[in-house]
Amino acid sequence: TTVTGNFVVQPGLGAEAVHDPAGRRLVSYVLPVYNEADGIEKFHERLFAASRSRPDLDFEFIYVNDGSRDGSLEVLESIARSCPEATVLDLSRNFGHQMAITAGLDHARGDAIVVMDTDLQDPPEVSLQLIVAWEAGAQIAYAQRRTRKDTAMKRFTAHAYYRLLHRFADIEIPVDTGDFRLMDRAAADVLRAHRERNRFVRGLVASLGFHQVAVPFDRDDRTTGETNYPLPKMLRLAADGVTSFSTTPLKWITRLGIITTVLSLLGIVYALALRLFLPEISVPGWTLLMIMVLFLGGVQMLSLGVIGAYVGRIYTEVQARPLYIVQKVVGSDDSGAGTPG
Ligand code: UDP
Ligand code: MG
Repeated sequence: TTVTGNFVVQPGLGAEAVHDPAGRRLVSYVLPVYNEADGIEKFHERLFAASRSRPDLDFEFIYVNDGSRDGSLEVLESIARSCPEATVLDLSRNFGHQMAITAGLDHARGDAIVVMDTDLQDPPEVSLQLIVAWEAGAQIAYAQRRTRKDTAMKRFTAHAYYRLLHRFADIEIPVDTGDFRLMDRAAADVLRAHRERNRFVRGLVASLGFHQVAVPFDRDDRTTGETNYPLPKMLRLAADGVTSFSTTPLKWITRLGIITTVLSLLGIVYALALRLFLPEISVPGWTLLMIMVLFLGGVQMLSLGVIGAYVGRIYTEVQARPLYIVQKVVGSDDSGAGTPG
């Protein structure tokens, strides 16, 4: 069976939350994995150990292998074989962090769903605090970084990024918050109904409303491997964050256009006056000409680029291709599990 992430979600139906007749509550973990072979076993051990502190809850660990190029899949398969609560969704290629999360959300059956990174930067123990916040009435509990042990570069760009988003976006996205959060069934179902391609999950979640609560934590260093968010990828995510929630850049283009038009008119008046009244020194105007041509050219290119970013989004949305492709499911008791398409 090949599962593609393109179905229409009917709110309320969800991925059947009926799992246990005894009325025990199920907590699903959505765990995106990309080239984490060295650390994933340790991660699972820590998460599993943390989950044992809540024998009153059932757990399901959904690992989404996002086209890893190292041995991550083999390690995950062995985890799924030895741990009945673990499931592996193997995507057919690398679809990116946000899409891996989406695939996991679509398959999660829990009454609450926790999304977290698998590089141990999001401490598994903190997810239990999110569960406590959920039990206290929160529908969305997001883990907010109090501190982070990243490089100065990462800290600086992240800081600038969240402030920029805050200024740009028409909605309020909590500062210093990644995708580490818990959603209850209702919030998750509404989120799953958002099927846009260039997705910025944390922004979507923030825009849902519901009763949201922040749980502060200290972010750890990556234990193994290296960040899969180098600067270009981060910039793309930043651009998605802005273009998903704000048309402010388009308004800026209009303003920029008005300003340059006014300035150009002044320049034209100046050039004409020079020509008519001081024809003997009209050649020095070459400097002004060059400045005007270059400046206007630059403004036009910039504006086209911004418009292009929005047109590009429209194009990919209109294509309506599947968001992700699952080529294999390991360790789930669902129908069709374990049989590659
Ligand atoms: N990840 C993924 N697909 C990707 C890139 C990353 O599933 O294309 C996963 C990765 O395994 C990790 C999480 O997303 O669990 C966050 O990635 P990373 O740690 O590289 O980001 P950072 O913490 O540096 O922002
Ligand atoms: Mg990380």
